[in-house]
Amino acid sequence: MVLWALGIGPGDEVIIPANTFIATAWGATLCGATPVFVDCQPESYNIDPAKVEAKITPRTKAIVAVHLYGQPADMDPLNEIARKHKIALVEDCAQSHFAEYKGKRTGGLSMASSYSFYPGKNLGAYGEGGAVATNDAELARKFKMIRDHGAEKKYYHEVYGHNYRMEGIQGAVLGVKLRHLGAWTEARRRNAALYNAALKGIPGVVTPQEMPYAKHVYHLYVIRAPRRDDLQKHLEAKGVATGLHYPVPLHVQNAFKHLGYKEGDFPVTEKAAREILSLPMFPELTAEQIAYVAGAIREFYS
Ligand SMILES: *Cc1c(COP(=O)(O)O)cnc(C)c1O
Repeated sequence: MVLWALGIGPGDEVIIPANTFIATAWGATLCGATPVFVDCQPESYNIDPAKVEAKITPRTKAIVAVHLYGQPADMDPLNEIARKHKIALVEDCAQSHFAEYKGKRTGGLSMASSYSFYPGKNLGAYGEGGAVATNDAELARKFKMIRDHGAEKKYYHEVYGHNYRMEGIQGAVLGVKLRHLGAWTEARRRNAALYNAALKGIPGVVTPQEMPYAKHVYHLYVIRAPRRDDLQKHLEAKGVATGLHYPVPLHVQNAFKHLGYKEGDFPVTEKAAREILSLPMFPELTAEQIAYVAGAIREFYS
């Protein structure tokens, strides 16, 4: 909806990190535009600003910054590139509710942003939900029309729109849960610190790095681990559920075969896909549970 309201359409290109959930790219394809992928930084797993400019063509209309795993992307250099080339910069905040970049919350670091309230997100509804945000009055007006069949006034349709209205019941649930999000965010950060300490010194295991500009909200706690697949099996046998975010980078997904990318195009993202493992992370995790998971990992490598 953000890209649509910006007027992005067929023939246009939208710059998107190769390392994200596929929905980021669907935003471009839904508008008829082409996603153009960019590699990530090895430390933050977010889009590498130094690799963006080489992807800009006369058709480029926007850059989508994704704050992956709950850590903000490096927005200042991205904003600079967007300004210089007169293209839009927008944010995918599906994983970054309450995350901060240089003391400012994500979602307000660009002209417009999108949120997901899928039940598994840091702020989750009891079903599907989402939102867009902007400080631009004209964009806000377009959002309100697009979400409601293109009408500002009922039955007077100004533009092409859809039904993107969220169910009222989800809003009621989210309104209550939002009051707890601050405490839940701090609990996630405390859990991440416990993991970091408990995993220290295990050879080859790399814990998440909170970048100097970031307040990370740990939607996911992602480590790098040697012999990752065997470690995952070991943890499963110990009753520990883990995940891969994401096992297949976007440029090598079958759904994007027609774009012509190949294995080797984005080595940092591809290496991460082979090494990453998401450990259990949610506010209610206990110190004992974290110690159990870390103990099982230590046991595997010894
Ligand atoms: C979950 C997610 C989305 C999509 O959100 P839905 O509400 O499931 O459509 C988009 N981008 C990222 C990075 C996500 O994690």
